[in-house]
Amino acid sequence: MSLSPRLRTGLNKRPTSVRTPLTMAYLIPPEQLGSLLNGHPPYRSDQLRQWLYEHPVLEAADMTNLPGEVRADLSETLWPFVVDVEQTGDAGRTRKWLFRCDKDASIEAVLMGYPKRVTLCLSSQAGCAMGCTFCATGQFGFDRQLDPGEIVAQVAYAQAHLRRYPLPDSPDRLSNIVFMGMGEPLANYANVREALRRMIEVMHIGARHITVSTVGITPGIRKLADEPWQVGLALSLHAADDELRETLVPINRRYPIRDLVDACAYYFEKKGRRVSIEWTMMEGTNDTPEQAAKLATIARELRAHVNVINLNPTPLSVERPSDTLTVEDFIADLRSYGVAATFRETRGQDIDAACGQLRVLRSRGGGTGLSQ
Ligand code: SAH
Ligand code: SF4
Repeated sequence: MSLSPRLRTGLNKRPTSVRTPLTMAYLIPPEQLGSLLNGHPPYRSDQLRQWLYEHPVLEAADMTNLPGEVRADLSETLWPFVVDVEQTGDAGRTRKWLFRCDKDASIEAVLMGYPKRVTLCLSSQAGCAMGCTFCATGQFGFDRQLDPGEIVAQVAYAQAHLRRYPLPDSPDRLSNIVFMGMGEPLANYANVREALRRMIEVMHIGARHITVSTVGITPGIRKLADEPWQVGLALSLHAADDELRETLVPINRRYPIRDLVDACAYYFEKKGRRVSIEWTMMEGTNDTPEQAAKLATIARELRAHVNVINLNPTPLSVERPSDTLTVEDFIADLRSYGVAATFRETRGQDIDAACGQLRVLRSRGGGTGLSQ
């Protein structure tokens, strides 16, 4: 599977350094789309909003009920990014894009198909300032915040692409969204909030099908808890005591585990939704019975489900993935303490789909390009 040559050319020919917010359709709040349609009757902005958010299409030419000149105007300014790389992996069930927003910002999004659902993993920032030692995005630093439109356009693009090029043996509609691509969503709070609002209130994606994953920005967790939407929260814990966590996740010095757990308990209380805990297994570091026991205490307090994944090795980290037996023992230990824990397969290992890896390869001139 790949983009048709015509479409690929069309997407890539747009000058990439030009960023003109007033003409890029997704960079304008959906309620203000009329500003793009001067001289047209007001119902045209409703039609455009529907094309952008409810039935997204890859090309403006397909917005069949809009006049030809509007479609022509939009043809170069529909997406706020160009597709730099598209890859497919896992026998076509995983599709990954590297989008270039401008010369300073590239972001990644990954679409994963399953028999009953399709999940999009999207980016909330270009790069990340949190510096987690095992994460490719963290290793290469922060470029800039993403606009709400750049976040929500990843959803619209994936939806449009999925419609035109369905994944094998999966639904042709996006069902779940996870903020697990590049960036720390709660460090770009206002823009993430506006992106969530558009997804939920304009695209009509169920809030319960959206998960915000955070390294643990305590004030952001509390703010999100006070928002009106039942969005899921995943806490990337990875270490169950402050001493170890500080070595893997530097921001833990500012927001230590006790504060995080209190903020997650507040989230649970406000939303009635359990938080999930993400745990990336690193050999000899956080895969020990001691860590399992401490993690179980935290998970039980929060009544949280633990998602265990194995490390995707990155170029700049000394950490290695744990071996299969250790992973199995760790999960068995958690269960013996009464904690629900699941091992999650990492998708897209054949296409560098670990957080931030595609961008790393690209910036070194070693991109692998489109796979067929
Ligand atoms: N910044 C947010 C969301 C993006 S990272 C967060 O940290 O939660 C999404 C998930 O990928 C996090 O759980 C993160 O810890 C995990 N992750 C990062 N680098 C990884 C790697 N090399 N292998 C496996 N998981 C990784
Ligand atoms: Fe940022 Fe999340 Fe990577 Fe940490 S794991 S550096 S918070 S993207």
